[in-house]
Amino acid sequence: MAVRQLRIDDDPILRKTSRVIEEIDDKIQTLIADMIETMNEADGVGLAAPQIGILKRMVIIDVGNGPVTFINPTILTSEGEVSDEEACLSLPDRSGFVIRPQSLVVEAMDSDGNIFQLECSDLLARAVCHELDHLDGILFIDHVVK
Ligand code: ZN
Repeated sequence: MAVRQLRIDDDPILRKTSRVIEEIDDKIQTLIADMIETMNEADGVGLAAPQIGILKRMVIIDVGNGPVTFINPTILTSEGEVSDEEACLSLPDRSGFVIRPQSLVVEAMDSDGNIFQLECSDLLARAVCHELDHLDGILFIDHVVK
């Protein structure tokens, strides 16, 4: 495993759209391990592959219960609105309030290739929205309300 370099600030890769992962091979398993290590090293709640320069639709989220891997994730349904402060490992000097759903259901593939659905609320729902945005080149500063 290795800590990868974070892409930050105006790095153009942060604005690109990531590609669907077709096959979970050894390279993807290495990527998962490296993303977890990189996220932990940076003390983050989540990390999306483009943040380490890899344009693949994969994010890791850990809100305190251990890392969860989401491959090719999509949000199926969402409910409610909550405004709270966000920050991003790729924008080290920025923070701001963003409105996100209070709860949502996300569907993704795990590292074994199994499809799963997860009901998320509060911080986890916020992290899912934030990290999935990265896969479409969207940063939280695009949504800041104050
Ligand atoms: Zn981010």
